[in-house]
Amino acid sequence: MNDFLSPLGIEATNPGGYDGTWIRTDGEVIQSHSPATGQAIGGVTMCGRVEYERVMQAAIDAQRRWREVPAPIRGEYVRKIGLAFREMKEPLGAIVTAECGKIYQEGLGEIQECVDIADFAVGLSRQLYGLTMPSERSQHSMRETWHPLGTIGVITAFNFPAAVWAWNAMVSLVCGNAQIWKPSLKTPLTAIAMTKVAAKVLEEDGFGALIGLIIGSDDEVGSAMLDDKRLPLISATGSTRMGRIVGERVGKRLGRSLLELGGNNAIIVMDDADLDLAVRGIVFGAVGTAGQRCTTTRRILVHESIAADLEQRLVDAYKTVSIGNPLSEDTLMGPLIDKDAVTMFQNAVAAAREQGGEVLTGGDVHPMFGDEAGGHYVQPTIVRARHDMPIVHEETFAPILYVIPIQDVEQAIEWQNDVPQGLSSSIFTLNARHAERFLSAVGSDCGIANVNIGTSGAEIGGAFGGEKDTGGGRESGSDSWKAYMRRQTSTVNWGTELPLAQGIQFGS
Ligand code: NAD
Repeated sequence: MNDFLSPLGIEATNPGGYDGTWIRTDGEVIQSHSPATGQAIGGVTMCGRVEYERVMQAAIDAQRRWREVPAPIRGEYVRKIGLAFREMKEPLGAIVTAECGKIYQEGLGEIQECVDIADFAVGLSRQLYGLTMPSERSQHSMRETWHPLGTIGVITAFNFPAAVWAWNAMVSLVCGNAQIWKPSLKTPLTAIAMTKVAAKVLEEDGFGALIGLIIGSDDEVGSAMLDDKRLPLISATGSTRMGRIVGERVGKRLGRSLLELGGNNAIIVMDDADLDLAVRGIVFGAVGTAGQRCTTTRRILVHESIAADLEQRLVDAYKTVSIGNPLSEDTLMGPLIDKDAVTMFQNAVAAAREQGGEVLTGGDVHPMFGDEAGGHYVQPTIVRARHDMPIVHEETFAPILYVIPIQDVEQAIEWQNDVPQGLSSSIFTLNARHAERFLSAVGSDCGIANVNIGTSGAEIGGAFGGEKDTGGGRESGSDSWKAYMRRQTSTVNWGTELPLAQGIQFGS
């Protein structure tokens, strides 16, 4: 089953640090298990503060040279990394699937996202545009330029174990930075595999340390990153709980943080919607990745006149979702990541029932549910709910969908916004007025607002991220690159006088 491991250079026990060379410690070894089968995939030797310091120092040294490499040449390295991702797409997709449990099609999709962002970054490497502006002073010129930040820290979640790093690293590399990656301890092998593939390109010219890797605990390694002034930016993806800690700690030292946190994403379905489209969008959004995407559809706000019809269609569609080993081609939904996730699913369903929700389908663990190490299968679940149920306002990282009737588009938008999170949102409607209202300043308050497509499955070309408890960060496309650079405003006097701004006279 694990024949994808050897092309990626994954062994029985793997070094957990990389600073241009692989760092194997004598410390604790953690095992990565398949959430589907419980089978051990491989072990990793954990890093601590000593290794952190080593990776950090090597990154700083490499970045000193990297910042002098012209940006389009940096782009050329990233182009080769993108090619390497393409070549290794199948084994990389398989390791994503094996480790985090998303189906193989989604594992491949995740690596395609890495390819796409590499391609995007190559183009970007010739477009790190500054500005010129007219000076108010005679014989003066003004311009604004963008320079690398230095070395940045990247902390990633288990559910996109490859793509989130690539979104950050590919863009940040062309911006002229080095990065240190602390991946989730639930998916360390994917991080090692991604680093190996990209490092092969960079190592040829002694630039491996630009993509440092440090696999260790939050208390030791994560904590060191948050307090380290040598990391001007921490880009952190994960739960809102984690984001509050990161934001506060990094803010305390006046560092920057780029936070990509939890979502509680809703789809509004109006009475004029194309219901066939809506059902397909909802099922992919709610069941895809077993409900473990930040953009997973968690709430349906449906016009009361079609609520019964939509519920029935969704219940029927859910019956056709094949659940099983995510590496098998027929499977549409794999397992949850671990036992804790199953417990959170069960607790949320119990809370929904207590708060007056009615389970329309699912609500329990799946018959394939297994032991501690693997088989974390649950049933995709639909709950008829009310907006005032407290559980509806939380992100439960599992396939639970709350269906809530609404009276009109104004109420739908108000309720869609009335949760702490603000990541992704959609409306299904054929009415241009409803659609435009949803996209207007009085519409969705989320970072992503879609019409007639679901909440999940964003393209890399746009800026990705959300507001409120989602953290406010933007990654990936558009002008997100600016987060990885520092802006410099320069005024040049090419004349023989020294006029002051605002016409101030100072002495003679
Ligand atoms: P998590 O918060 O448990 O962990 C995320 C990462 O943060 C891990 O690497 C973890 O080790 C690290 N971390 C946790 N506490 C830390 C601390 N005190 N100091 C330093 N590092 C710390 O999240 P998870 O369970 O891996 O992922 C699921 C969550 O991530 C969901 O809430 C999901 O919505 C969110 N997510 C958001 C996005 C987005 O782009 N908005 C993308 C993917 C996942």
